Amino acid sequence: MNVSALHALSAFVRIRRLARRLRTPADVARWRAARLDRFLRRTVPRAPYYADLSPRLLGDLPVMDKATLLANFEQLNQRGVTLAEARAALDAGRQRVRGLIVGQSTGTSGNRGVFVISEAERFTWLGVILAKTLPDVLWARHRVALALPGYSKLYASAAESGRVALRFFDLAEGVDAWRDQLRAFTPDVLVAPPKVLRSLAEGGGLRPRHVFSGAEVLDAVDRRIIEAGMGAKVREIYMATEGLLGVGCPHGVLHLAEDAVAFEWEPVGDTGLVTPLITDFTREVQVMARYRMNDLLRLSPTPCPCGSPLQAVEGVEGRQDDVFQLPAASGSGFRMVTPDVVRNAVIDADRRILDFRVVQTGPDVVVLHLARDLPTAAAQAARVALAAALARAGAAVETIELSAGLDAPTDRKLRRVRRDWTPPA
Ligand SMILES: [Zn+2]
Repeated sequence: MNVSALHALSAFVRIRRLARRLRTPADVARWRAARLDRFLRRTVPRAPYYADLSPRLLGDLPVMDKATLLANFEQLNQRGVTLAEARAALDAGRQRVRGLIVGQSTGTSGNRGVFVISEAERFTWLGVILAKTLPDVLWARHRVALALPGYSKLYASAAESGRVALRFFDLAEGVDAWRDQLRAFTPDVLVAPPKVLRSLAEGGGLRPRHVFSGAEVLDAVDRRIIEAGMGAKVREIYMATEGLLGVGCPHGVLHLAEDAVAFEWEPVGDTGLVTPLITDFTREVQVMARYRMNDLLRLSPTPCPCGSPLQAVEGVEGRQDDVFQLPAASGSGFRMVTPDVVRNAVIDADRRILDFRVVQTGPDVVVLHLARDLPTAAAQAARVALAAALARAGAAVETIELSAGLDAPTDRKLRRVRRDWTPPA
């Protein structure tokens, strides 16, 4: 077994033991407090950016946003890797700089978050994913197929350890390049972004027992098609280049990875949604403390029937910068309309709608893209439902343009609800 697999395995064992110890929310809070204390005393001071602070509580650290992170990049990692070095490596298609792995978050070009992690950290991450997704691994063998951003065929060597056979499929090559290989592997666990799962489900020939969707928001339309095509329930893995943030339980409910990450919450207006500030107390190479994510979450007010003490999430509803900013019907200021409101209006309008995009392209212009072969009645129903949902949210929209035709999926992150217009500051 190579070193990478060893890191994955030790994380796997650690997380499994931890899951047995953390039974209640109070157990989780105590564990987090102890780990945060160590993180603040030992990891944080090693980053020059925090050298003068000697923080005792998390709140002693400033909130970090993407712009500040990028502006102080070399002060925030222990090896002094500069942003220019990291970007040069990414531009050249290399994922390495000085032995570290470089990654970037999705976002508009020039405004993408950049991250460095060690090889050990990457495989620890993988071990944690496996620990949280393979409940019966102690007595069952598993064939796990992973197609995730950042894990390419390079990792094929880490393929076999004990009862788990792992195989990596490269997203950059596209599904068609390895669809047959994947079928031949007959995975019983499949982890991939939703658009890849959907393409695989539509192609047929795969019946994994456990299906996990990661790296993008899982829409209800995709869920239906994947579950029908593969005959298994889809569970979500909430991940970002920033880290592993949550994994769905057998009840289909997403639970936050509070055993590795401390979450703080900022409300988004009066929408009932929140955005997270995350502190990853397991990572050391780059300090990730009180980092403001772009995601919109709806937290569940009740515990999950599975009994997990980890916070349950009703939905990851999209990104903060895709929230529509439309003129208020009352005549002054803007109204925020969150992506879940837009998405649900369109999907619920007609069962025949299997794909769509809704884009805010101007101060009061919204464009609804639907499949070319969708019957006119369904398209009109979607437009009417969207207009009604925006009106209920208190927004006044001059025009909802209907556009026949959808962009073909690319290897970029799929955002069905998108704001392509920036309000003047
Ligand atoms: Zn649960």
